[in-house]
Amino acid sequence: MSNTDVRTLTVMIPCYNEQESLPALFKRMDALVASAPARLRYTLLFVDDGSKDDTRPLIRDYAGKHQDYVEYLFLSRNFGKEKAMYAGIMHTHTDGLVIIDADLQDPPELIPEMAELWFQGYEDVYARRRSREGESWLKKATSRWYYSLLQKISGMEIQRDTGDFRLLDRKCIEALQRLDESERNSKALFSWIGFKKIEFLYDRDKRVAGTTKWSYPKLFHLAMDGITSFTIAPLKIATWAGSIVSAAAFLYALFLIVRTLVSGIDVPGYASTMVVMLFLGGVQLLCLGIIGEYLGRIFMQTKGRPNYLIEESKLGSKPMPGAHDPESAQQGTESE
Ligand code: UDP
Ligand code: MG
Repeated sequence: MSNTDVRTLTVMIPCYNEQESLPALFKRMDALVASAPARLRYTLLFVDDGSKDDTRPLIRDYAGKHQDYVEYLFLSRNFGKEKAMYAGIMHTHTDGLVIIDADLQDPPELIPEMAELWFQGYEDVYARRRSREGESWLKKATSRWYYSLLQKISGMEIQRDTGDFRLLDRKCIEALQRLDESERNSKALFSWIGFKKIEFLYDRDKRVAGTTKWSYPKLFHLAMDGITSFTIAPLKIATWAGSIVSAAAFLYALFLIVRTLVSGIDVPGYASTMVVMLFLGGVQLLCLGIIGEYLGRIFMQTKGRPNYLIEESKLGSKPMPGAHDPESAQQGTESE
């Protein structure tokens, strides 16, 4: 690699009510930028996902102090981290992109080491947790089960114990910009795009301040998005379950007919009738539910609404090559 190979790298930070974490984050980001090696140029891109606390004024203030490398996008409301990240990806114009949480669970000090691998030619340097400090046993276990299930039913290689903390090359950024699906699960999308991946082990820290912004219902929805965005296997399972149950029901019906013909009408049969009814009812509802999960997503996608709306922004004036940008009309013009 020659010394003239200078690359630009955006560090994108999705934030939702992170006022407690931001002061510490700013400090560590300043240190990161100050110690940048000659061949790296950082841009910090804060994506505020509709915070209701002082996150926005803090970011505005910070951006004012560091005009040359701090950018921000403020979404018009809380769209969820997935869409906040998509907004950031759509507005990345640099050679590379690092996605990092605002709560400093992912240490920014690792970015230069990740960039080292990027300079070596890797296109998706994903950080894999060696440990997960401060997360409950339940969260760790459900996450482990979920990813092994997803891998089995989708037949895709899913990176274990990874989050969104990773460095993506321009090639990956442009690939992700083309995936404008409305029900997003980024981890699934990162796997789906492929490219030269390499894992990078790290210890995930505790949140510096504040509390997790994810609730179990949100996580469940994200988990369903992961499955439905990857595979229609559950629909096939529903078909198989339906076929097996109806075959069994047919055999049982034959048995009942024959038994009635041979030994006459057998009035007591309440228990068996109830069992069969409840079982069939349950299977039917389950299959309808599975169809519903897909149908709902088709509905959301066909409405064709934009994935996010921008209320205010401060971005570099460079054009964004390759980015088709549905929001260009709404972009703020603070620094442009
Ligand atoms: N986040 C976001 N929108 C949301 C929820 C979270 O932008 O609706 C951001 C949050 O500010 C943080 C990152 O996503 O920077 C990860 O969130 P959190 O730390 O709450 O998740 P966890 O680390 O517990 O998975
Ligand atoms: Mg966190």
